[in-house]
Amino acid sequence: MAAPKVAVVGAGVIGLSTALCIVETCPSCSVTVLSDQFSPNTTSDVAAGMLIPHTYPGTPIHVQKQWFKETFAYLFAISNSAEASEAGIHLVSGLKATGVQMYTRKVADLWDLHSEYNVVVNCAGIGAHQLVGDEKLFPVRGQVLKVHAPWVKNFIRDGDGLTYIYPGIHRVTLGGTREKESWSLSPDPGTTKDIFDRCCSLEPSLRGAQDIKEKVGLRPSRQCVRLQREVLSQGGVKLLVVHNYGHGAGGFSVHRGTAKEAARLVGECIAALQGSSSRAKL
Ligand SMILES: Cc1cc2nc3c(=O)[nH]c(=O)nc-3n(C[C@H](O)[C@H](O)[C@H](O)COP(=O)(O)OP(=O)(O)OC[C@H]3O[C@@H](n4cnc5c(N)ncnc54)[C@H](O)[C@@H]3O)c2cc1C
Repeated sequence: MAAPKVAVVGAGVIGLSTALCIVETCPSCSVTVLSDQFSPNTTSDVAAGMLIPHTYPGTPIHVQKQWFKETFAYLFAISNSAEASEAGIHLVSGLKATGVQMYTRKVADLWDLHSEYNVVVNCAGIGAHQLVGDEKLFPVRGQVLKVHAPWVKNFIRDGDGLTYIYPGIHRVTLGGTREKESWSLSPDPGTTKDIFDRCCSLEPSLRGAQDIKEKVGLRPSRQCVRLQREVLSQGGVKLLVVHNYGHGAGGFSVHRGTAKEAARLVGECIAALQGSSSRAKL
């Protein structure tokens, strides 16, 4: 069988980390990322990117712990490496260096990819609601402010985590909101004022923050992350699919662990394809 062709749909933290893990575990694969949006226009760009354990009630706790531990160990190693200062762009630059191709493309139906790719990996985040008609997936809208306040060096988070101040490399993220089933991507001015006031009451120096930008993201929420294989079939033709979406409020916190598992499932798909192609030759 020629080099297996794998398409990853989605270029948020889940799609990019999954593409990287596939390249690492299956170097003979040709990997392409297809996405209608890339950074800085994904939900992943809105997140503060804190590693905080979030619970997925439909996923066994030991599995969640494993995903979190693998992600923590991976990021901790990067933070202690020479690449620490450019860690924010590590995923994209790392993928380009490994030959992964990236195309802007909105995929209306996974089946549309069956003639071009052997395996398709669905990392579409909230987009999976429409892409695969998953009614169990719902948005939890989050509005934040990204501000210039370089003097803020420590994070502050209130008791229930609704109000937070997270300094990043370039900007400070002020949050936030959690609005279940809201699909609106437009920032609400009243919410902006409310977030700013809440954060200033925790850190009054933020009144001097500059260049305040409003951002909205839809957390792709589900009882459990959908991390499984599926075989699509039409008229006797098959397409092997691996789903990896539905990370809700914790995509950053478990991205490496779920990407490794998705890459393992891609490996199973390729082994099945190689088995069937060698049987066909006999
Ligand atoms: C305000 C806020 C704060 C957050 N803070 C944190 C935090 O501190 N820590 C944490 O762990 N998590 C946090 N999260 C959650 C985290 O952002 C998400 O879990 C994570 O970004 C999900 O990543 P994703 O790659 O699945 O989705 P996305 O980043 O949305 O990426 C999905 C990709 O799929 C593409 N796509 C969708 N449909 C199609 C289609 N039909 N065809 C082609 N491409 C398609 C999109 O263009 C996009 O590139 C936060 C979220 C929000 C909103």
